[in-house]
Amino acid sequence: MKREEAAAAGGSGLSTRAVHAGGVEPVPGAPVVTPIVPSATFFNEPAPTGEVLYTRYGTNPNHRVLAAKLAALEGAEAALPVGSGQAATALALLAYCGAGDHVVAARALYGGTSTLLTRELPRLGIGVTFVERAEQWAESLRPETRALFVEIPVNPTLRVPDIRPLARLSAERGVPLLVDATFATPVNFRPIEHGAAVVIHSATKYLGGHSDLIAGVVAGPATLVEEVRGKLKSFGPALDPHAAWLLERGLKTLAVRVRQQNGNAERLARWLEAHPAVARVHYPGLASHRDHAVARELFDGFGGMLGFVVHGGDDAAVRVLGRLRLLSVAPSLGGVETLVSMPCFTSHAASSREERHALGIDDGFVRVSVGIEDVEDLRDDLARALEPEVK
Ligand SMILES: *Cc1c(COP(=O)(O)O)cnc(C)c1O
Repeated sequence: MKREEAAAAGGSGLSTRAVHAGGVEPVPGAPVVTPIVPSATFFNEPAPTGEVLYTRYGTNPNHRVLAAKLAALEGAEAALPVGSGQAATALALLAYCGAGDHVVAARALYGGTSTLLTRELPRLGIGVTFVERAEQWAESLRPETRALFVEIPVNPTLRVPDIRPLARLSAERGVPLLVDATFATPVNFRPIEHGAAVVIHSATKYLGGHSDLIAGVVAGPATLVEEVRGKLKSFGPALDPHAAWLLERGLKTLAVRVRQQNGNAERLARWLEAHPAVARVHYPGLASHRDHAVARELFDGFGGMLGFVVHGGDDAAVRVLGRLRLLSVAPSLGGVETLVSMPCFTSHAASSREERHALGIDDGFVRVSVGIEDVEDLRDDLARALEPEVK
């Protein structure tokens, strides 16, 4: 049996799939690691009968290895790596929707996704309805609705919308459910197992895992993935083979990284919750989190992202960030290094204070992308930075 078939076969664990699926066939003399193939084009017969390979088509050998690995990780029929997470979302929605069609999406979304849905899709004649409460999904559907879109978990409050009623609605009404599961990774949550049609990732984050590439993924039914490939060919946001190679390298350690990040984040969340300078901690693994019960049912791990609220509001939070030495202040997430940011200055800078409060982003909110460092060192750095805020 070919190595990738063996790795994709039932029973092989997630880490095994992350290392082996799609990999080089282990015959004597073959390289152990996939070579980088920075070739734009590939030799052909004068009158080719088979598939024409071209790097913009997502058919470069580095793309193909990734496609097999990502489909195996998500339990999807097929997958396609593209040039960014933003491209993955845009191409997936364009594969389902054209002028006159309609999308129903959760209100709380990654900023780039919100902009795409509020500014770009309407210009193409695609209507969008945003949903704030679970009971609004069903009533928002129209005859021309072609996609339901949700992000799990939600940035930065780590709310966990229950995907199961949405999957039932999707099945009843025949409208596919698309899930951006960037924050969860397939290690913690695989939406297709719960009835989603399509999974989208910003592979820039955990899948790459080293803050050194920009990439995205669409995984789902083979027919849909071919539609997405059609959009990729037309709009052109292909993944560079060098970045594809780096992403494959990163994916091999996905499970060990994410499990370490899960453990670190859970320990920091518990420690922060007991800290006198901290008003509140947002982490789905804490019993105090609003969606703890849903997260326990859906997730294999609670993730490496957490939020905490410093007593004294945004000024106090800015002071805390200014005292950090090991943790660095930067947007983005999912890398091996711990990064902190304040959503009021980054993802939610365009929202008013009232809008932020309505989304659960209190004054003094700090988002942490917990890395793989020794958790004691992370805790000590946070302790030193928080100490002067204890009143
Ligand atoms: C970063 C991110 C994106 C966009 O991904 P890029 O790779 O930056 O284009 C989409 N969704 C979520 C949840 C993200 O965190």
